[in-house]
Amino acid sequence: MSRTLYDLLGLLAAVLFIMALKGLSSPKSARRGNLLGALGALIATVAVFFYAEPEYSLPLENLEWILGAIAIGVIVAVPAARKVQMTQMPQMVALFNGVGGGAAALVAIVEYIKLGETAGFATVLATVFTVIVGCVSFSGSIVTFLKLQELMTTRPVILPAGRFLIIANLVAVLGVAYWVMDEMGTSPLLVLAGLSLLFGVLFVLPVGGADVPIVISLLNAFTGLTVAASGYVLEATLLIVAGTLVGASGTILTRLMAEAMGRSLFGTLFGAFTQTAQAGGTEAESRPVKSGSPEDVAILLNYARRVVIVPGFGLAVAQAQHTVREMADLLSARGIDVAYGIHPVAGRMPGHMNVLLAEANVPYEQLVEMDEVNPTFPQTDVALVIGANDVVNPAAKTTPGCPIYGMPILEVQQAGNIIFLKRSMRPGFAGIENELLFDPKTTLLFGDAKASLTKVVSALKGL
Ligand code: NDP
Repeated sequence: MSRTLYDLLGLLAAVLFIMALKGLSSPKSARRGNLLGALGALIATVAVFFYAEPEYSLPLENLEWILGAIAIGVIVAVPAARKVQMTQMPQMVALFNGVGGGAAALVAIVEYIKLGETAGFATVLATVFTVIVGCVSFSGSIVTFLKLQELMTTRPVILPAGRFLIIANLVAVLGVAYWVMDEMGTSPLLVLAGLSLLFGVLFVLPVGGADVPIVISLLNAFTGLTVAASGYVLEATLLIVAGTLVGASGTILTRLMAEAMGRSLFGTLFGAFTQTAQAGGTEAESRPVKSGSPEDVAILLNYARRVVIVPGFGLAVAQAQHTVREMADLLSARGIDVAYGIHPVAGRMPGHMNVLLAEANVPYEQLVEMDEVNPTFPQTDVALVIGANDVVNPAAKTTPGCPIYGMPILEVQQAGNIIFLKRSMRPGFAGIENELLFDPKTTLLFGDAKASLTKVVSALKGL
């Protein structure tokens, strides 16, 4: 493949990436945007595959290694992506993201070894940057994966002398980075990689469960920057373009998410170190609660004038989106004003509830964003909380020091009645008790959300 054709294909791929980002900005065009991005990635891969620098005699050097790596990737990723539940998507994104950062760091290390003494200062600087940020992104993403998969606690993990450890680790990373640039050896670079991996772990451990989405987005931006820097090392323009796009969009997304959670980025990352109290219990309490039957819930709903449904992660787990729509349609047909209150971080990924409810063809105009729905709760007769917990937890406003303190919530406590559909008294993702469950206005309907809603629907039909 000639250099001109290679450059043109690179340009085409870059344009496709930009169009993909534009498409992804709206639910209507998101599917097309995703396909355009995938097409861009395919074109870029093919172009790189068939182009070789003039100094190489064969265009396809190390063919068996390349094909072997592609085969492993396909065998692992395709079934994993097909099988993954929508509720597990963030873990998958965290893993893919981490692998991307790790791969960029590995490529930079290999390139550094290959270039040896001939590497110029700028290349060494870019290599050091790629190794540090790529390794932080890799190990940090693994920890976010473990948290999201609930293979470890979702609460902030504060090691003894954690603040000192993280500062000492950072100083060591910077010191070894200087050493690499000064001596240009492979061993210091490997030490740098090890220390950066440790930094990624120490950096993410203190982040509380509710803030994990922000950290995923930040690590994603890091990976973009790593790829851009590795593009500089490899002299690959397309990597610089693609990496910068990911870095820039990831940074904007991180800011937007932090704002939606009412957080500063610094507070998100280091808030756990400054917390004075770990408020909110983790254990299910033995205080009395008011539980009801599906019939009780149906009666409350049937005599309401306005009902706000608050969906959360549990709705996605139960796959109850079609049943909730059936129930909402029944209520609407009886002249009851029905709306869905959508919290920006309900579920486990941005837009999770919108996607879930769109799948059940819930009319888009019934989905009301948090800022718009909150002032309507005082006029709402029933707030029906289905599989949500953290996003309605008043501790976010009342309990300084708790892991979700400062996050805006859906103010369901202002509604006339609150109904919670959940299976047990277990807390939500942030691992903290929700006082609302003990509120005299609250009725709990225990059970899987889909099974409970099915019973409520048949009780409603009988009224
Ligand atoms: P939560 O995780 O706070 O609560 C989910 C609730 O659903 C639990 O109380 C659980 O209780 C209940 N539940 C689980 N399965 C079922 C089921 N089958 N039937 C009925 N109920 C069920 O969810 P929220 O949506 O309120 O909050 C999202 C949380 O996730 C926030 O802390 C957010 O920061 C975090 N997060 C958000 C991301 C995003 O981008 N949206 C990404 C990563 C994390 P029980 O077990 O008793 O049934």
